[in-house]
Amino acid sequence: MKDEVIDLRNTPLISPQSIRSPKYALRDFAGILVLNGEIVLRTNKLAHDIQNDYESKKLVLVGVLDGSVHFIKDLSEGIGIPIKRTFIKVSSYRDNTTSGEIELHLNPMINLNGMDVLIVEDIVDSGKTLQFIIDEIKQKFNPNTVKTCSLLDKAEKRAPGFENVVADYTGFIIPDEFVVGYGLDFADNYRGYRHIAVLKPEVFSK
Ligand code: 5GP
Ligand code: MG
Repeated sequence: MKDEVIDLRNTPLISPQSIRSPKYALRDFAGILVLNGEIVLRTNKLAHDIQNDYESKKLVLVGVLDGSVHFIKDLSEGIGIPIKRTFIKVSSYRDNTTSGEIELHLNPMINLNGMDVLIVEDIVDSGKTLQFIIDEIKQKFNPNTVKTCSLLDKAEKRAPGFENVVADYTGFIIPDEFVVGYGLDFADNYRGYRHIAVLKPEVFSK
């Protein structure tokens, strides 16, 4: 049975002071939105659902670099059936915050022909990147099926025309805040932080 997506839109932030955190976290983060333990628990649940749905299929996880690296590691460890795993890279952002033109930069290193592809993303925002990736993979690599799994979803942020973009598996619905950590970056920083945190606006606008 699939459960409800966990909605964190009205959840108070956790102070980085209240748990073991590096100095940069105390300086740059408004607060922690999702603790690593909560991420791992939720990811195990998603992995379990995926395992049930793909029992007799040829599952290949296609991670979107660089943000999905932590997520796909935990997710694939939780899936108890044989799977393949590969990565693609897209450029979707001209600067750090605004959607620009999207390109596929790195092709998957596994033949996706006839495979059951599950795209693994860190976050869906406007929906443009995920829609682009779905279209590209279907057009270029002739998979059997294409589904999507995103750890985070800024459900209120869909761009006009992308309102229906929603991942088949979602970890958490989050508020419209810029988040970093657990693979997610700002200007390639903070990816190694274990938890998912909200960046202070002053860091963001520098
Ligand atoms: P979309 O095309 O849905 O607008 O954007 C998806 C991509 O934007 C994600 O893969 C991610 O790279 C980036 N992105 C969107 N929101 C955030 C955020 O809050 N934090 C970070 N680090 N990246 C984000
Ligand atoms: Mg991304």
